[in-house]
Amino acid sequence: MALDLDYFRKQLEEEKARLEGELSTIAKRNPEAPEDWEVKAPDLNLMHAAKEEMADAEEELENAASTEYNLESRLRDVNEALEKMRQGKYGACAVGGEPIDEARLRANPAAVTCVKHA
Ligand SMILES: [Zn+2]
Repeated sequence: MALDLDYFRKQLEEEKARLEGELSTIAKRNPEAPEDWEVKAPDLNLMHAAKEEMADAEEELENAASTEYNLESRLRDVNEALEKMRQGKYGACAVGGEPIDEARLRANPAAVTCVKHA
């Protein structure tokens, strides 16, 4: 059974572009580590901000941080899957090395293990 690598590469590239687009709205790339993203601080002049504005800004920053964390970890999975593809190892379970079920890859092209080892 040969996987349609072009199909999965396209899925992964599209998801990568989408994740990077979303990340760039709330975070900026760390110039020293391009895979690492840092949340942008809310645009607020703290010296003149009222208390409620401060609380809002803190909440906004917390939300952005958790969104950023989720996007970044998903992006890392997608990049890993693309890297495996470059090495010719795409679709092999990271635990046992057996082929990952194609239906599973279609549901999540960045899956790194088979169902049994998930
Ligand atoms: Zn496995």
